[in-house]
Parts: sequence; structure tokens; C-alpha cells
Amino acid sequence: MKKLELHWQILIGMLLGILFGFGMTQISWGGEFVSDWIQPLGTIFVKLLKLIAIPLIVASLVKGISDLKDISKFRNIGVRTIATYIVTTVVAITIGLVLVNVMQPGNGISEDTVAKLTETYAGDSGVTSKIEEATRQKDSGPLQFLVDMVPDNAMAAMTDNGLMLQVIFFTVFLGISMLLIGEEKAKPLKDFFDALNDVVLKMVDLIMLSAPYAVFALLAGVVVSSSDPDLLLALLKYAGVVVLGLALMIVFYCIIVAVVTKKNPLWFLTQISPAQLLAFSTSSSAATLPVTMERVEEHIGVDKEVSSFVLPVGATINMDGTSLYQGVAAVFIAQALGFDLTFGNQLTIVLTALLASIGSAAVPGAGMVMLVIVLESIGFPADKLAIGLALIFAVDRPLDMCRTVVNVTGDATVSMLVAKSVDKLGEPHVENWDDHYDEVK
Ligand code: ASP
Repeated sequence: MKKLELHWQILIGMLLGILFGFGMTQISWGGEFVSDWIQPLGTIFVKLLKLIAIPLIVASLVKGISDLKDISKFRNIGVRTIATYIVTTVVAITIGLVLVNVMQPGNGISEDTVAKLTETYAGDSGVTSKIEEATRQKDSGPLQFLVDMVPDNAMAAMTDNGLMLQVIFFTVFLGISMLLIGEEKAKPLKDFFDALNDVVLKMVDLIMLSAPYAVFALLAGVVVSSSDPDLLLALLKYAGVVVLGLALMIVFYCIIVAVVTKKNPLWFLTQISPAQLLAFSTSSSAATLPVTMERVEEHIGVDKEVSSFVLPVGATINMDGTSLYQGVAAVFIAQALGFDLTFGNQLTIVLTALLASIGSAAVPGAGMVMLVIVLESIGFPADKLAIGLALIFAVDRPLDMCRTVVNVTGDATVSMLVAKSVDKLGEPHVENWDDHYDEVK
């Protein structure tokens, strides 16, 4: 019998996880059972993916740059990547703002609901910790992000997944210096990183064998820890606007993939779908990164010279889904609390949400931290911030799952566009975990 394709296996795992989670919420000890005995399996899977993220970025970026032979090509790729990321993010925020202004989800929220949400969440540590985190980030100077990008200890940078930009900085520096010492001298180092790269990609294949079971555990865990269904229902219109915006963003990606690369968008979505499903299950583009890289390189055919730079950078700075959500959430909160927004305020949202998506970490819930900064930029009163966040907190996790899918799809799309523009979009070459198994078994 033909084996079911990976994305179907993952999808089935997800559906069973959701059903199982719902079933367990009906039993008194069900929630505790899931968090004690099921969820840890999902957590292990996410840790395994994070475990290989830094070695993969280093190995593949060194390989990518040292294959270039010509530094000016790297400049081309860099400039195109950043420019395209900015354009897609601005498109995302604009879609979000248009939808939230036309559909006005905040105006239908009753005072009772506002009071209930405020009472439930305004003092919640989830909300207050996000405000504190945002205050810490905001207190730094305008060039702090550049300072933060440069590590003062390469090894220390590599010990922290949150310092991905520092690792990229060091690795680009290393790769360019390798080009400058000449091919022959750089060969031992290049061979080392080439082999490391192949090994880490094999690790991705092996980890992915457990993906269908892991997503079962992750989703069962999400379901048992989700909020009161009544509150979710009250926020249905707001959540609907965000999800509609995110869906339109996927349509936008499909259109540009078709127009620019001339590839079939459905083919693109199928190839990238395991990464999307994992983005949904983990709510973290950083944890999904190894899978995104594997799918884009092996299943779509983007050359490593492009993907090794575009994808890690994208995972950290390009978050179209997050910025769309921030635009919608900021306006929704303003509408619900009767805070009038001028056209100027909305333009400020575009700018700050763009910067916020660059500054958001690629981990669950990070988008909400930066939302605080977006709200403050439009003069939202500091004493009402907790109430504002409380309004949307109940649906944040499901929306986080959806926006992470868009974040990852956006990175994959841009990698295809950049690859096409520098003539580096080739044919897929799929490697399976057991290609050499017979030799060692
Ligand atoms: N969870 C998102 C990501 O990792 C960030 C966010 O929107 O909270 O891409």
C-alpha cells in the first residue's frame, strides 16, 4: 500500500489531537492527564527542532555563502530579501487595517463582555508580563537593534536560540572571509560545513518521522488549556477578521508565486504544507525553521545560496501574519473601548507594526508583546493597556497558531521570489531519511 503523504499524516494527527483534547475536557481528570502525560511528547518534539536550528543555520549559511564565488551576489540577495520582506509586511498590515475598518468588529462588543474580559484577564500574569516585557524593549535607544545584532562572543551567541540574528551576523562574516582566503585554503572548512549541513538535514528527516504523533500531543495540550468557550464566542467577529486577513495573505502569496515564479501555487502550498502544519501546531516560526528550510530546499528547489540566508533572517524579522494581527488588534481594541483613531494614527500603526514585526521574537505569543508598543505609539493610555490586552487574550493562542502559518508561508514565498530573481530556483531533489539505510543496517 502506498504510504500516506507526510502532510496527510500530520493533518490526521492534528485532528485526532483536537478530538482527543475535547474528549478529555469532558472528564474531570482529563486536563491534568493530558498536561502530565501527553503534552510532554509535543514539548520534546519542539525541543528537538530547536536543538538543530543553530547548527543548521550555521552550516547551511556557510555553505550557501562559500558556494557563491562572488560577494556581490550576496549583496544582491541581501538587498532583495530585505526589500521584499518590507513590501510583503506593508501589504499584510494594509489588508488588516482595511478589513478591521470596514468590518468594525470592536463596535459590536457589549459593555458586559468588556467588563467580563477585563475581570478575567486584566490581572492575569499572561497579560501583565507582556506589558512588562514591552516596556523593557521600548526603553532602549533607536540603534539598539543594530548593537544587539553584533555578538561580542560567537560561542555565547550560538548557545541561545533567541540570538539568531547574532548567529547570522557571525556566520555571514565567517562565510565572506572564507571566500576571501581563496577556494583552496578554505576547502577543509567548507567540506566540514558541507558535511555538517547534510547531517543536520538528515536529523530533520528523522525528527519529522515523529511529527504526526507530536502534533497530536501539541494540539491535545492546546485544547485542554484553552479559554472558556463563551468568551471565545464573544470574540468571534474579531477572530474572524484576523483569520480572513490571514487567508487573504495566503491568496496574495499564491498570486505572486504564480506571477513571478510561474509555478503552480497549489503545488507550492502542498510542498510547504508540513512546515505550515507545524507552524500551526507549535506557534513558533523559530521551531519550524529547520522544516521550512528542508521543504524549501529539497521539495521546492530553492538553492541553498538563497534559502540559507532568506529563511533564518525571515524567521526573525519577517512576520506578515503577526503584523496583520497587530493592525487588526490595535484598531479592534480602540473600537471596543471607544478610543477614536485618526487617519494619522492608522499610518502610525502601519509603521510601528512593521517595526514591531521585525522586533518580535519567533516564539509563541511574541506578537502580543509588540502589540503593546503599537498601542502606545497611537497614544493609547498606559493605564488602559491591561484592559486592551485582556479583550483579546482569550483568543490569542488560536490566532497565534494561524498567524505563525502566515509568517512561515511568507518566508517561503520570499525565498522563492528572491531565488527566481537571481536565477537560483531549480528543480526539487528530495532526500529521504532512509536513502543510505541499507548501507548501515
Ligand atoms: N508566534 C509567532 C511566530 O513565531 C510570533 C507571534 O505572532 O506571536 O512566528
